[in-house]
Amino acid sequence: MENILKEAVESSRSVLKKGSVATYIPELAKADPEALAAAFCGTDGAMASAGDVNTSITVQSISKVASLGLALQMLGEDLIFSRVGVESSADPFNSIMRLEMKAPHRPLNPMINSGAILVLSLLPFKESGERLQAVLETMRLMTANQDLAINEAVAVSERDTSDRNRSLGYFLRSVGSMQGDVENVLDSYFRQCAIETTVKDLAVMGATLASGGRNPLSGNLIFSERVALILRALMGTCGLYDGSGDFAVRVGLPAKSGVGGGIVGSIAGRGGIATVGPALDSRGNSIGGIRVLEHLSRSMSLRVL
Ligand code: GLN
Repeated sequence: MENILKEAVESSRSVLKKGSVATYIPELAKADPEALAAAFCGTDGAMASAGDVNTSITVQSISKVASLGLALQMLGEDLIFSRVGVESSADPFNSIMRLEMKAPHRPLNPMINSGAILVLSLLPFKESGERLQAVLETMRLMTANQDLAINEAVAVSERDTSDRNRSLGYFLRSVGSMQGDVENVLDSYFRQCAIETTVKDLAVMGATLASGGRNPLSGNLIFSERVALILRALMGTCGLYDGSGDFAVRVGLPAKSGVGGGIVGSIAGRGGIATVGPALDSRGNSIGGIRVLEHLSRSMSLRVL
């Protein structure tokens, strides 16, 4: 297995020069565009990895899977999906356009920024610190890594530059789609996006979803089977934003990306597969990660879509 991963990583490195690291969050511009790594964690807990496995990245949008899972678990799917849709979007992840165009001004899905911010606002916590702790704890449980922590420099860098997410939050509140203190919700959003992980953490996260919500390393049940299924389904249709269709054709797996350069894939009953590669394509998805997953989907027969 290690050799298969190694072959996928090494043969994909040449594509990295076609991508570039995210710069709209200034602190992310410091990431190494040449890093590339892959890991697989089976539903039996067996782990294999290859490439630059010690590269740590912030999870960014991958955290939306944890916060949505937590919200579904605490509040139920009827309530969540009465406020946010489950349809894929052909627009960039931080687009405001479609939100304004059509009443009832519901975000298309929970994987784009507007949807994730709205879902967070529904969680029953008053303080942003409590909300963040609940999401961080969910990430720790999904990865079986109690040491996961927040990269404060990245969180502050996003907080100080995120006019776009602020616009989404205030717009949602102006049309009555979201209630409460927008800054309070955004504060926990920026910090959950700045949770630092490695490719192995991400592979365990995917394996937890592949095992019907039970973490194969700790044996703990994190989500119900139904919640794990919903998360995988939405990763399959919306996990790479406006690149989800292309990813489905090329790779064929439920997966979630983040602008830190991570991708988490999940193959029900089999395991989690993850990549780290901060060089991104024009849609904000890891260009090397997609190439590695395309390779592995073929060589390991991982395709489920
Ligand atoms: N924190 C990032 C943002 O809100 C997450 C986006 C992403 O990973 N695609 O812009």
